[in-house]
Amino acid sequence: MHDSAVRNGRILRVLRGARLPCGCVAGIYETYAGGTVVVIDEAHADCRLAPHRNGCMMDLEAGESPGRDT
Ligand SMILES: [Zn+2]
Repeated sequence: MHDSAVRNGRILRVLRGARLPCGCVAGIYETYAGGTVVVIDEAHADCRLAPHRNGCMMDLEAGESPGRDT
């Protein structure tokens, strides 16, 4: 779990975990507002995306896939 995210008060429950195309491992969470956010669990060493840092919370826009577990 992400203590910082939970303390933030936005997280309702965890939906699933996912490995992003860039290699980062993230958790997908449902918020009380009914939206979905992605929290970076473990940023990949080779990820070049600036927002991807451990504990980073990002809004998941509709239609955007965070990647698959497989
Ligand atoms: Zn990344």
